[in-house]
Amino acid sequence: MTEVTTLSVARTLDRCTTLGPGTRAVIWVQGCPLRCRGCVAAETLPFEGGTTHSVPELADWLGGLPDIEGVTLSGGEPFSQPGALASLLDHVRARRPEFTAMAYSGFRHEALRRGGPDRIALLRRLDLLVDGPYVASEQHGLRWRGSANQRVIPLTDRYAHVTGEPDTSAGVEVSMDGDGSLSWAGVPPTPGFREGLEERLAARGFVLRAEARREA
Ligand code: SF4
Repeated sequence: MTEVTTLSVARTLDRCTTLGPGTRAVIWVQGCPLRCRGCVAAETLPFEGGTTHSVPELADWLGGLPDIEGVTLSGGEPFSQPGALASLLDHVRARRPEFTAMAYSGFRHEALRRGGPDRIALLRRLDLLVDGPYVASEQHGLRWRGSANQRVIPLTDRYAHVTGEPDTSAGVEVSMDGDGSLSWAGVPPTPGFREGLEERLAARGFVLRAEARREA
């Protein structure tokens, strides 16, 4: 595995209950090579931009968060920065061995397994993967994923039970940041949800962070 010490990040969130099992931190990485039609995270697609964080700095943040069971890696495309994310999970688990990891990817699991040592290293550290590109015509309000072609794949026993649970939308969470601006996290249940939500909030005078987001 390549030793990578920095990660390009679009946004982080301390607590979230709509992007994976239980209560989790979320890291949205910056940059995705895919261009799914209807992607609701357009601001995370360019590889330029974002904020560069050191892996130990992010590990300290995650390791110190109370009352979360793990982290969800979203984006952007987490498997475009697999070495840094694998290293991050190693750092966190040195302090919290029980810490779980879930990731989204626009690539299919089978392709990731053929994707080289860094991608395989990240796969081996994940408990749960949501794979495949977002397809707007297959968006049906499903749990944790934007479209029906995407699969929720347990990679360890930690979340093996989730595939037998109700497959309905986990909704979205709106949170207020330290500067008073609002952001949201979750999988939009319907196409166009983001635009409608942001228009309604703006009409009521709420200021939304430019990179308010999801995963789709
Ligand atoms: S939906 Fe995900 S995989 Fe597709 S373009 Fe957007 S960030 Fe990339």
